[in-house]
Amino acid sequence: MASTAVVQIELGGALTKVASGKVRDLFAVDDKTLLFVASDRISAYDVVMENGIPGKGALLTALSIYWFRYLPSHVPGLKTHFINNSLPSALESSLDASVLASISRRSMQVRRLRVIPIESIVRGYITGSGWSEYKKSGTVHGIPLPTGLIEGQKLATPLWTPSTKAEAGEKDENISPERARTVIGDAAIAAEVERLSISIYTVAAKRAEEVGIVLADTKFEFGLDEENGNQVVLIDEVLTPDSSRFWPRDTWEQNLGGQQPSFDKQYLRDWLTGNGLKGKEAVTVPEEVVSKTAEKYREAFERITGAKLSAETS
Ligand code: ATP
Ligand code: MG
Repeated sequence: MASTAVVQIELGGALTKVASGKVRDLFAVDDKTLLFVASDRISAYDVVMENGIPGKGALLTALSIYWFRYLPSHVPGLKTHFINNSLPSALESSLDASVLASISRRSMQVRRLRVIPIESIVRGYITGSGWSEYKKSGTVHGIPLPTGLIEGQKLATPLWTPSTKAEAGEKDENISPERARTVIGDAAIAAEVERLSISIYTVAAKRAEEVGIVLADTKFEFGLDEENGNQVVLIDEVLTPDSSRFWPRDTWEQNLGGQQPSFDKQYLRDWLTGNGLKGKEAVTVPEEVVSKTAEKYREAFERITGAKLSAETS
């Protein structure tokens, strides 16, 4: 597979790059359309690792596309940024076949929208930073919860628990729903972000449950379609192991009160923490942790979509 660096340079010549995040690169197809390219890079605790997870960009793209096709018919009023998963013709003529094949598996064309500057997290279970806050103050993102909850417990209803969307190099910060409404700055838009987030979580958690996965929490991003009355649109990647906690349902109960095994990034986070590397720059992840992480991502993909991850994908 062509290395991500090579692909970036070559593609950068054919289309103009508009942004580079920790994991994705965005290129302008035209005024209204972006090519959204997922790399194999992996970040944890807001730091990108030195080495990537082979096949991860293709997997995240295929899983996001699965959800972009599934969700609109299950969530009333939901629109997404997804247009298609083919490459713009400008690329077809200017890149060689192997580079094209690699990019094609990791790309989708999406509508270019104004990003609403919050991370729209939904938590159905109490864990991670939500659990840490609850232990200290009995609240999650400032929302008071009943006493006596245990780690990993299902919440009475899913909670909308947003965070800030930090600038590059900064850390996202958990905020209260009230604060998020202020950041969004428009009550109707904020209410729609909350409604869609909870509805999408609920639909996805049901789908995950059917294949033996607990969707403990997840993060969405939304954009505004300014040409269509400021309609709130689901953007970014969606319901992947990068943005979600997926736990095996059959071992959830026995692990209440402690760590849950998971089909996501938690394995990498735990390895970093266990080795005193949490939040450190320039970490190279050992081969064993790379392949176990890839295996966990594959398990999530195959269970949810019911499809095998083709060798092509990696
Ligand atoms: P960020 O904190 O900005 O999300 P990141 O490192 O997570 O940084 P990536 O996920 O690698 O970023 O890159 C994706 C970027 O593209 C995000 O900044 C996201 O907000 C933005 N984005 C996603 N979908 C769209 C869209 N349809 N139009 C414009 N920007 C988008
Ligand atoms: Mg992101």
